Amino acid sequence: MEEEILRYWDENKIFEKSVANREGAKRYSFYDGPPFATGTPHYGHIVASAIKDTVPRYWTMRGFQVERKWGWDCHGLPIENIAEKALGIKHKKEIEEMGVAKFNETCRSKVLEYVSEWKRVIGRFGRWADMDNAYSTMDKDYMESVWWVFKELWDKGLIYESYRSMHICPRCETTLSQQEVSEGYKDVKDLSVVAKFELTEPLTLGDSGAPLGKGEQEEKTYVLAWTTTPWTLPGNVALAVNKDIEYVKVRYNNEKGDTELFILAKSIYENSKEKLFPAAKELKTGEVPPTPPEIVDEFNGTELIGKSYKPLFDYYAKDETLENRENGWKIYHAPFVTTDMGTGIAHEAPAFGEDDMELGKQNNLPWVQHVKMDGTMKDEVTDFAGKSVKPVENPQEMDIEIVKYLAHKGLLFSKEKYEHSYPHCWRCDTPLLNYATSSWFVSVTKIKERALELAKEINWSPEHVKEGRFGKWLEGARDWSISRQRFWASVMPLWKCECSEMKVFGSVVELEKASGKKVDDLHKHIVDEITVPCEKCGGAMKRVPDVLDTWFDSGSMPYAQAHYPFENKEKFEVSFPAQFIAEGIDQTRAWFYYLHVLATGVKDSNAFQNVIVNGVVLAEDGKKMSKRLQNYPDPMEIIEKHGADALRFYLLSSPIVSAENLNFSERDMTETSRNVFRMLWNSYSFFVMYADIDKWTPKNDAKPSENLLDRWMLSELQILIQELDGSMERYELAKATRLFMPFIDNLSNWYIRRSRKRFWKSEDDTDKEQAYQTLYTVLVTLSKLMAPFTPFLAEEMYRNLTNCHSREVGNPGSTDSVHLAEWPVADEGLIDEKLNEEMNVVRSMVTAGLQLRAEAKIKVRQPLSESRIKNQELSKEMHEILKEELNIKDVVIDASIKQEIVLNTEITEELKLEGEAREIIRAIQEGRKKAGFNVEDRIVLGYNGMEGVFNGDAEKGINGFKEEISKEILATEVKNELLENAEYSESVTIEGGSFEFQLKRTK
Ligand SMILES: [Zn+2]
Ligand SMILES: [Zn+2]
Repeated sequence: MEEEILRYWDENKIFEKSVANREGAKRYSFYDGPPFATGTPHYGHIVASAIKDTVPRYWTMRGFQVERKWGWDCHGLPIENIAEKALGIKHKKEIEEMGVAKFNETCRSKVLEYVSEWKRVIGRFGRWADMDNAYSTMDKDYMESVWWVFKELWDKGLIYESYRSMHICPRCETTLSQQEVSEGYKDVKDLSVVAKFELTEPLTLGDSGAPLGKGEQEEKTYVLAWTTTPWTLPGNVALAVNKDIEYVKVRYNNEKGDTELFILAKSIYENSKEKLFPAAKELKTGEVPPTPPEIVDEFNGTELIGKSYKPLFDYYAKDETLENRENGWKIYHAPFVTTDMGTGIAHEAPAFGEDDMELGKQNNLPWVQHVKMDGTMKDEVTDFAGKSVKPVENPQEMDIEIVKYLAHKGLLFSKEKYEHSYPHCWRCDTPLLNYATSSWFVSVTKIKERALELAKEINWSPEHVKEGRFGKWLEGARDWSISRQRFWASVMPLWKCECSEMKVFGSVVELEKASGKKVDDLHKHIVDEITVPCEKCGGAMKRVPDVLDTWFDSGSMPYAQAHYPFENKEKFEVSFPAQFIAEGIDQTRAWFYYLHVLATGVKDSNAFQNVIVNGVVLAEDGKKMSKRLQNYPDPMEIIEKHGADALRFYLLSSPIVSAENLNFSERDMTETSRNVFRMLWNSYSFFVMYADIDKWTPKNDAKPSENLLDRWMLSELQILIQELDGSMERYELAKATRLFMPFIDNLSNWYIRRSRKRFWKSEDDTDKEQAYQTLYTVLVTLSKLMAPFTPFLAEEMYRNLTNCHSREVGNPGSTDSVHLAEWPVADEGLIDEKLNEEMNVVRSMVTAGLQLRAEAKIKVRQPLSESRIKNQELSKEMHEILKEELNIKDVVIDASIKQEIVLNTEITEELKLEGEAREIIRAIQEGRKKAGFNVEDRIVLGYNGMEGVFNGDAEKGINGFKEEISKEILATEVKNELLENAEYSESVTIEGGSFEFQLKRTK
């Protein structure tokens, strides 16, 4: 069915019409976050698609024009990695050797590889999106708008360059942003070491005034410092203590018999004395048992400040030309030093950590960066030159080498495995390095207050993300590192002269004018060739070679998708900010955040007003979906097997549309969706079958029905519309979707079931007409209400109902598609709250009553004399419903009972016979069917047994049910004997008694 509808939509351009028909109407603006086409769509995209399709369909039906421009994310590391693999490249310098042009063109050729697969999956899922006019972030127009955004920020003083401690990926050889770093934390085992830093002169006594230990002059005094990154030790230029911490000097002699003095924080010594200074272990020949450690002095950190120590490595210390060399390899105070971990003394390598760098600046420490951007040791580090400090295959390799080196030199105090959370490259999984380098930043901190203020206006679904994940991230936001030392990306439109003059170009024309060259492409390999004469010194300005963080592309999307401000100015103004966007929870720190930051900076505005945040689809066992483990069914298979609507309905009614995770279960899906669909489909088929038989057509001037059930169903329908509107206006999709379940249950299991007989009556009376009219109205309206949620099913129902049964009442000319129809408006005049309430009460009483019957083991077919109910408000009509549903003779109001309803379960002789009569009727009706008689065939019944049921007991004054039985089974004659030439015979057991019957049609 769905495939057929897709063809129908396609051939009749229904999507295009749904947008074009609304020309001139108010716009409802939706921004689509661009996916990468470097892989095929997965469940995350399916969830996003369900949300991004349902909301625009709804607002379209509400009368708005909703364009749905698709986008492709084309730049950045993912595609560069693919190109590297295709070209067999392992190192960044190979790209430079080969030429950036060739590399970038390879990226360009690969980036849209899976577009057709995307079109197939998204199309089959039934999501309407304009993929033919998609924007792509590598288009010149798009990239030009990105330049404009950059220049806007530049002109407002929001872009600056700074040398600071960043995280870099040594394999990708680029800096990463705070957000990218936060993506890749993993628990890893590293090696932590305590190294021995020897004081150049023994520590003279402090205020404690304790006498000098005997022979102390000859003993070496070591300061113990702890690090989890041994590879940074060659870059050590200082040690840091805290002047408020108490330190001790400890005497200890090791196995070799050497007596040594160690300085460390007192509390740490006291807490882990035995671990740090083990009393005894297996000794080799010539070794002596260590003596227990003893404190020989105590003092606070102040005493240590300014003391010099011998560098562990002398690669830089021996360089007499090193700037600030005189300040190096000394002990400084640092407030960040604590006794939480380590020794209370920190090793300082300012080129490899933020705190360290700050300390270095404050104290004019020498600048030592012994590692290159590619993560290898520099040449001057002779013992390790050229080796990687964190090889991806074996991240501890260098640390182990350093440990061995220290041990060999007697400078290793201890080593230990250490588990901690360490950042990795989100794309290539290489451990990141904390590395001081130059980067360009967007000064988010300058506009943060304003961004927080603007964010107050955004409506989040679910609401908690607003102050929670998003709000917290925004509050803690730091300046955004936007420069990357890569190739395939939007570039920084910034030219710099040797005289340090800088110029930013915000458009292609500006660059063409200044350079006198035609510019057709804004990628690095093209624009890097373009120089611009310096207005100040006449020299040649060159582009700053960095490219932009891909998130700068994505965050510029509102402007760039429209090539604003170079084109579409008016269109942009009316569609900015977006009324609606949607993405996964991971985007709170990414797309949502960057959209907001750039809109604050560029437009002093929000970029979006309403946002739905979805959670993560997990495998049924709660684990991550893994291609390797194959622990989940392929989404396309699910769609082919159960239909896109079933998947949509399941997802939309689940907590995944309110940022929670969902353990995807095919069984849950079929239970949720197919039960509802089956009920709906049965209701729909019921109507179609009878309407066909009766050749019924809807009437435009139908009078409102007086029938209680009709009034109730129509009232429920108006309430459904109201509640749907409420939920959709609050962007609460799960709440909206779940409204259909009880409504369809009411329709199928109550309204239609109780109205069945009204459709059977052969006379075409008013009641029958009203039943038709009501059911028709409900089904057509329901198909419209379901259209955004289950677009296929709704379309099928709507088109059949409106085409096969004449034009739709009151809405002529829009029968081509439910998606071109107007959204129903609730008619408040039809709402009868009291009636709805009463019907609810009755339904729950019936449920309770049937439960009581089941407990008493009395079949529903067995009539009972009465039930008592507590409720005094129920109308007579409701009492009648109770009687029929519970098969009781009378309803008595009894305020004294505790429960809502009680049943009199006493079965009198008469009631027993009546129950048996029902059984007999049922048995014979089935016999008629089995015999293949037509519904209207008249018959003769012959029987044997159960005589009392037919003729009663005259002595006891009990009447039989012969007449009722005859009427129900259409018997013209009933004989208490077996027939000759019977067409059908059967023996059954009725309540323990045997009953034999034979049927014969009358001619
Ligand atoms: Zn990387
Ligand atoms: Zn210049």
